[in-house]
Amino acid sequence: MSGTYLGMPAFPEAAREAVGNATLRGNLRHATHTIRDKRARAVAELDDWAALREAGKQIKDHTLRHLDRYLVQVEEAVTAAGGTVHWAADADEANEIVARLVEEVDSGDTDRREVVKVKSMATQEIALNEALEARGIHAYETDLAELIVQLGKDRPSHILVPAIHRNRGEIRDIFRSEMGEWGRPAPEDLTDTPAELAEAARLHLREKFLRAKVGISGANFVVAETGTLVVVESEGNGRMCLTLPETLISVVGIEKIVPRWQDLEVFLQTLPRSSTAERMNPYTSMWTGTTDEDGPRNFHLVLLDNGRTDTLADEVGRQALRCIRCSACLNVCPVYERAGGHAYGSVYPGPIGAILSPQLRGTGSDIDASLPYASSLCGACYEVCPVAIDIPEVLVHLRERVVQGGPAVRHGNRVVLKPAKGHAAERAAMRAAQWAFTHPGALRTGQRLASRTRRLHPRTLPGPGRAWSGSRDLPPVPAEPFRDWWQRTHGGKGRAK
Ligand code: SF4
Repeated sequence: MSGTYLGMPAFPEAAREAVGNATLRGNLRHATHTIRDKRARAVAELDDWAALREAGKQIKDHTLRHLDRYLVQVEEAVTAAGGTVHWAADADEANEIVARLVEEVDSGDTDRREVVKVKSMATQEIALNEALEARGIHAYETDLAELIVQLGKDRPSHILVPAIHRNRGEIRDIFRSEMGEWGRPAPEDLTDTPAELAEAARLHLREKFLRAKVGISGANFVVAETGTLVVVESEGNGRMCLTLPETLISVVGIEKIVPRWQDLEVFLQTLPRSSTAERMNPYTSMWTGTTDEDGPRNFHLVLLDNGRTDTLADEVGRQALRCIRCSACLNVCPVYERAGGHAYGSVYPGPIGAILSPQLRGTGSDIDASLPYASSLCGACYEVCPVAIDIPEVLVHLRERVVQGGPAVRHGNRVVLKPAKGHAAERAAMRAAQWAFTHPGALRTGQRLASRTRRLHPRTLPGPGRAWSGSRDLPPVPAEPFRDWWQRTHGGKGRAK
């Protein structure tokens, strides 16, 4: 599998394979439910969670409103601290800047140019690894999950846990067969215990940390008043990349700025609780330019636009730029839970990917035009978002854009925009539901009948319904309808009659 997403089919086709795979559905369900439950407990510990959420939203909105001013402030502060700032309008420009900088630093053996990388969404977004490889520069991912994805010639499927679709046995097999190709091989007798897998990765990566002349990172935040970059991570591998190589290059989306140092007080509480359900992040690395005799000698900050100013121009869609990439919305999304991350055709999967990718890339391709529909609009993503992005609102807004901007169709002398296609079976199902909900007596009789015959219900539907039920785990019908339970336990009080 290639590392880029060019030419991906529309979401429904891309998701078909995943939703038909019961094992994958089981793995995703287990992983997402575990993380979401832990997050809920971590968030419930804070009495002021709602205030923190509102503060995060306000800080991000304020920064985006005055982004022109804060970007200049970042450039001045980073330059004053000994760093160099580069501006990249798109992926090609950013990749060219990074490749040139690496070639300037590592001018030795052109067959063995290499860099070590901290986990970074921005560099995945611009396909930096592929661009560097084309110039003969090998980029090694050092985050454990990213390493698994890279060794497996795979794509990440989750923002926080990129290898969420792999189990331990698969990881062991990847380490055994692939590590030797890239450096220190895995032990022959490697098992699938977490400690052994982590030790194999540690030894494999250590020699790369010590050898590489260039480290490449993204950043979770950039503080405008001081020019400080912040990376939060869980393993410490990021800190090795940020401190050991002579030169550090950070590629950062322009929306990552926060105005003041004090603003971190909000995000360093909301981000770990929302992402890993931790009260505090295990490794929080911060650096400001360069420091004599400590850390990299040279620091370059590449500020990346790549569709962000276009997104900023959209009054409804711009709220997507508040995202702090915590992945809480993925973990509660019923669509992501079944379709997995690859179907979204982007480094940004799940609900945030469904609103961010079509804005950063436009809705011209099949995959980007289909993403705003990859949602049931249940609103769970909005409820958990620590910066209160109203994802359903943006989804509906983007659907409108897709329909308005759909391909033109000629009717005689008139050219009209092609409307979204309705599905005949879906329309029939909606008409049947409308009839049932407007005939309560028939609905009650049907529910009782369904409860009494529930042991006879097939797990899969026949005929055209087979494909639908083959990709879904149908919930069991309860032994007693809710209305009857309410009548029995509440004696007819209330409105459930
Ligand atoms: S949209 Fe909100 S919940 Fe989803 S990753 Fe971004 S910050 Fe987290």
